[in-house]
Amino acid sequence: MKKCIICNTDVHTFRSDAQNIEYHRCPNCDLISKDESSYISVEAETKLYLLHHNSIESKDYVAYLKNFVNKAILPFNKGYHLLEFGSGPTPVLTSILKDEYGFSVEKYDKIFSKKKDYLDYQYNVITCTEVIEHVSELMPLFEEWNKVLFNDGIISIMTLFHPQENDVFLKWWYIRDQTHINFFSRRTFEVLAKIFHFDILFCDNHRMIVMRKKESTS
Ligand SMILES: [Zn+2]
Repeated sequence: MKKCIICNTDVHTFRSDAQNIEYHRCPNCDLISKDESSYISVEAETKLYLLHHNSIESKDYVAYLKNFVNKAILPFNKGYHLLEFGSGPTPVLTSILKDEYGFSVEKYDKIFSKKKDYLDYQYNVITCTEVIEHVSELMPLFEEWNKVLFNDGIISIMTLFHPQENDVFLKWWYIRDQTHINFFSRRTFEVLAKIFHFDILFCDNHRMIVMRKKESTS
């Protein structure tokens, strides 16, 4: 029996015949994971990312990112040292955060900005927009984030929350992106917050979640 990669609970497996893919759903934290046998190669993944044409010239995309900054960062940040985790081939959010909001930004991307220099610093804010659904090693990632966040620092995440019914999930457009491997709901982040002793500051129950690292009690 497979175990959930977040909370180690036995998962329920269901399958998409159309995609020929198995998914594993955790009854405790509500994470849905694509079976590892259906992961694509890093080369194929890179090619697909390069097809994304998000640029600073796209007014809609910039407005979409500014909405995230206004709802999920600015009401909560206590300082301006920020890590953009998963900055992609064209780091549009980095430019906006630096030029329009005055953040000092360190960026990391496992394909396009690989140097792990960011581990040498600490941050008031970590942003992860449309990225966490691509990450396979979720717990090591949260452990790393926990280390590099200041006490009182926040993690602001954007990822589309999954539908609750399995049959609706199997028809959902978000799973058709072959680079998406983990799917979340509010409950998934509640369980993660409990494990890492984070507070949830904001959740729109749709695609945005903000968590805060509590002051250390030790
Ligand atoms: Zn779980």
